[in-house]
This record gives sequence, structure tokens and C-alpha cells, in this order.
Amino acid sequence: MCLERLEQQSLAGEQLAAEMIADIVRLRSGAIGTEYGDISNCHQVADDSAVWPLVTSTNDNCIGSHCPHYQRCFVLKARKKALEADVVVINHHLFMADKVVKDTGFGELLPSAEVVIFDEAHQIPDIASQYFGQQLSSRQLFELARDITLVYRTEIRDQIQLQKCAYSISQATLDFRLALGENGFRGNLQQLLNQQSVSSVLQRLEDALEFSYEVMKLSLWRSTALDAIFDRTTTYRNRSNRLKETTIPGFSYWFESFGRHFLLALTPLTVADKFHDIITTEKGSWIFTSATLAISDKLSYFSQRLGLEKANNLILPSPFDYQRQTLLCVPRYLPDINQADFA
Ligand code: SF4
Repeated sequence: MCLERLEQQSLAGEQLAAEMIADIVRLRSGAIGTEYGDISNCHQVADDSAVWPLVTSTNDNCIGSHCPHYQRCFVLKARKKALEADVVVINHHLFMADKVVKDTGFGELLPSAEVVIFDEAHQIPDIASQYFGQQLSSRQLFELARDITLVYRTEIRDQIQLQKCAYSISQATLDFRLALGENGFRGNLQQLLNQQSVSSVLQRLEDALEFSYEVMKLSLWRSTALDAIFDRTTTYRNRSNRLKETTIPGFSYWFESFGRHFLLALTPLTVADKFHDIITTEKGSWIFTSATLAISDKLSYFSQRLGLEKANNLILPSPFDYQRQTLLCVPRYLPDINQADFA
């Protein structure tokens, strides 16, 4: 939970639905009894409450050391606690997020370790590809528009153009989603952007980001929150420009549309060099373990994908007697999963 965002939402309270205001009041009252701001302990607010995205922080929206709540920040406390711990258990995503944050020079999330153990290590190459790639999504853009509106309503009320920025970003985002067609699917970004109808709405989205950039520039230094939003707008604008350069080799360019949302992305074809750099610059031992790393009794495919040049390998046999204890069934004529008689 982010104390800064919680306060911002409280200030803009009258704009929210009644249940969301009630959730914010509960969170602010401290009745939730959470010492570390871990939302899984906030039992009085439903897991799927619409308030969570508004009051939690992400890498994109945290304003870091400029934050007025920095000293009380839950994320900071969690970090300090991790620094003091002998063993820290995290998921692969947090590990990769930490590497990206260190790469951008914004600090770090995790302490260094003498031993790093990856369970389910077969997932690492794909997860690393996501983090070393670039993405622009409708969720990021809607959230950007929402945060601009919030700053306008709470801190910079005289800059009426900000409301126009928020409107043009969310409208252009909706139009882009509409241009992708009704059905959700994944596809080739280069082919998509070759369609005149799609590239023109992307241009409108870029114009909206450019316009917002210029408007926010006029109010820089007046609000820490707006300064951070300005940085995000710049990042998204640059990302959009980069995603259009689909002829630069070494990457896969793709998009996805689903429901009201879309995602434009580029993913590096290999993360071997980057991962190799990570494990050679950080001292310590690295252990990768999983039931599904070997192919034809060799680990070379996995090692090459992560640039692990001098790894000691150990393959242990399965304790299961697959020949005698496995049955593969392929029933015919199963109904669709969403039909009433499926179960
Ligand atoms: S430092 Fe970041 S996460 Fe912590 S309260 Fe401030 S904005 Fe929220």
C-alpha cells in the first residue's frame, strides 16, 4: 500500500464511488491492523476492490525519495527488513524487477546475496525477456490519465489544460483499442502498424502524449506527483516511438488485445548476454533447479539461453515410475469449457 497515493485519493474522495470511499476510510483509519502495508493482510477490504490499483504503488508511479511519506513508506520498511534478513524468499518477477531498477540507476529493491537459488528455473528465460523488453499498455495509459486528473483536482487546480490532457490520453487509448477490432488476439506488431487505420490512431495517441508533455512542462516543480507523472509521460512517449521501429533486428515485436485492453511489446530474442553480465558482476553462487530443465538428458539448451558458461550440472532421475504409473487420455467430443455441461 502506498501512503502517498492513499492520501491523494482521500483528497479527491468526492470523485469516487461510495464503496471505494468506504474502503479508503477503512484503510486510512488503520483499523486494518497492517504494520507493513501488505495488502494481503487488509482483510476488511475485498481482494478485488477497485480501490487497490488507486492506493498501491508500482515502479511507474512511486516518487521515491521526493515522497513526503518516504520515512514511513511501507515499501521502504520492507526493504530495510529484507536487508536485515538471513534468507529472503521472493518470486522471479521481483528478482528481475530489482535488476531492471538497478540498471536504470534508480536504486535497488533487494540486498545482495551470497547464494541465489532459483526454483522452477525453467521460467527464468521467459520472465527475463519480459523485463528486458519494452511494453506499452492501455492499463498504463488509463492509469496515467487517471493520475493526471487526480493531480489536477487535488494540487494544481488552476491548470485546466491538465484535464484536457487526461481526456485526450484516455480517448486516444480507447480509440486505439477499437482500431484493433472486437476479438482479442495476439499478433505481429509490424503487420499491425502497416495498416493505415491503426497507425493513424497510434499517431493520435502520440499527439496526446506530446500535448500532455508540453502542458505539464509549464507546471514542473509545483507538485512532486506531477513531476513524476511528467517523467512517466516522457517514458511512454519514447516507448511508443521505439515500438514503431519494428525493423531494428534482435527483437520480437508483438501485440495483444483483450477485453477493453491492449499491449504493444518488443521482446529481445535472447537474454543470454544480459543474464551472463548479471551473474558475472554479482559475486556469489547461483543455483538453478527445476524438474523440467533437461532435454535429452542435457542441460545445454537451458544454459545457453541464460549465458551460463561454466555451470556444474547435475541431473537426478525422477522418483516416479512413469512407464507403469502414467496414463494419457484424450477424450473425444468434450464440450467447450464455458458450457453448462462441461463439469
Ligand atoms: S515512497 Fe513511493 S511507495 Fe512509498 S509512500 Fe511514497 S510514493 Fe508510495
